[in-house]
This record gives sequence, C-alpha cells and structure tokens, in this order.
Amino acid sequence: MLSDLPRMQKGWVWLCGAGPGDPGLLTLHAVNALRQADVIIYDALVDDRILEWAGPGAECIYAGKRGGKPSALQRDISLRLVELARAGNRVLRLKGGDPFVFGRGGEEAQTLVQHGVPIRIIPGITAGIGGLAYAGVPVTHRDVNQSVTFVTGHDQSGQTPSALDWAAIAKGSQVIVVYMGMKHIARIASQLIDGGRDPNDPVAVVTTATMDSQQVLETTLARAADDIARAALEPPAIICIGQAVLMRQVLDWQAMLDGAVPRNTDPLDRGRPAESA
Ligand code: SAH
Repeated sequence: MLSDLPRMQKGWVWLCGAGPGDPGLLTLHAVNALRQADVIIYDALVDDRILEWAGPGAECIYAGKRGGKPSALQRDISLRLVELARAGNRVLRLKGGDPFVFGRGGEEAQTLVQHGVPIRIIPGITAGIGGLAYAGVPVTHRDVNQSVTFVTGHDQSGQTPSALDWAAIAKGSQVIVVYMGMKHIARIASQLIDGGRDPNDPVAVVTTATMDSQQVLETTLARAADDIARAALEPPAIICIGQAVLMRQVLDWQAMLDGAVPRNTDPLDRGRPAESA
C-alpha cells in the first residue's frame, strides 16, 4: 500500500530515479514521492507521462536541456534545491534512470548534505540494465559473462574520457555498456579495437529505450559509427558491446509481442541442455 510508504517531510529533498522512460518502470517509492511533493525538479530524460503521477498542487520545474537550449548549470540546480528545501517545501528531484548512475545525483546529494538539507535517495532502473532488457539483451548470462563494465562516452569536458584505460577495458571487460556514447562512438570503437577487441564483436544501439519510439540497431564494433550515421539514430542511446548482444536473437520479446518468432533459439551455439527443475 502506498500509505505504508514513508511520508515526505517539509524541508527535505528526495532524489529519485524515474527509470528509463516507460512509466511502468517507476518504483512504488517514486510514485509515493510524486504524489506528495510540493515541488518536482525534473530532467530531460523524464517522460511527461511520469509527471502525470504528480499531485494536483505540485509545481513541476524543468531543469534539463531540450530543444537545443543550454542546460541549467549543475551548481545552480543544486543550490535551487537547497533554497526550495529551506523555504519549507517537500522537494522531489526526479532524474532519468538511476540517480547515482552517470546522473550527477551524487554531486547534488553532496551539496544538499553540505548545506544541512536532509535527503532520501530512491534508486531507479538504469538505462544500461532496464533499457537493454527492453531490447532483449541480458547484461549478464552464464554462457557469456561474469562481469559488466558501465562506461560513459563523455567526460566533464565533453571528450571521450581520457582517464579510462580503453585497452584494459577492451581486454578485460566481457560486456561493455556505454552511456552517452553516440557523439564519440567512432573514437570509442577505434580505441577498443586498437586495444585488442575483435572488430566483429556484436554491438546493439538502443535509442529511447523502453519508450514507444524505441529503436534497436544491431551492428559490429568496426561498423558501428557508420551504421549509426546511416540509420540517422539520435541520442539518448545506450550502446552494448559484446556477445550478450547475440542473445537478442532469442530474447527480443518486444518483437514477439508483435508476433515475430525468435531468429535463433541458441545464438551462442553452446547447445546447453535445458536445466531440469
Ligand atoms: N541516470 C541515467 C543515466 C543518465 S546519463 C540512468 O541511470 O539511466 C544519460 C545517458 O543515459 C544517455 O545519454 C543515454 O546513454 C542513457 N539513457 C538514459 N535513458 C535512456 C533511454 N531511455 N534510452 C537510451 N539511453 C538512455
């Protein structure tokens, strides 16, 4: 019952993940917060249908980048949250996916704590797991991998992150999930190939994952940049690199909803017998 969930107190900020888009992927804690907040500050990747869960008196403030307008400065957002809380509001900071995964939620939470504002953190389903699941890609599978690496395709300066050891990732990461990778995909792919990754490694690019507009491109590391350009795909996109992508041939459940049959029920060709109960 929602009524059993925590009450939002005045002067608090709840930092909450809204999931990758599909409102059905909100948590009960997120819905509980939406129903109670006086002020909701939300990002570009939060779907409008999610804001429809807000209480009737809630003020919704947009704090992201849309239609080419410059994004609100991160520092300004954090300080705005402090001001709103100090003014006695119940503040909901709603972020796409999970607030602590490439979402700057950690920075905002830190500023709030530094200013003495009490916080609650509500995790969300991150695009790199839930978005790929909607494309039929399991980020772990016993026949494929025992580890997953989440990387960002940009650093704070907007470049491919120079602090990352791409050669080590190329060799050591069985499955690589790239957030914010569209702009620099050509560089990322060539750094991975230079680092020893197979140019034929399968790649899936999932744009607006979990939403009605979701698109999935299957390609390879060597062809990814050209194929993305040819298909004119636009961010937001989550990019998965590795054998896990092949599982889509059997697990593309959205295509099955539309009546498609699986392309291949054993894409890894391991012939693993069905597990007995
Ligand atoms: N905190 C978010 C990530 C924010 S960074 C999370 O946990 O999911 C923004 C990046 O996330 C985008 O550039 C894209 O790579 C990815 N992303 C978020 N939502 C997405 C979606 N619905 N479809 C595809 N990629 C998404």
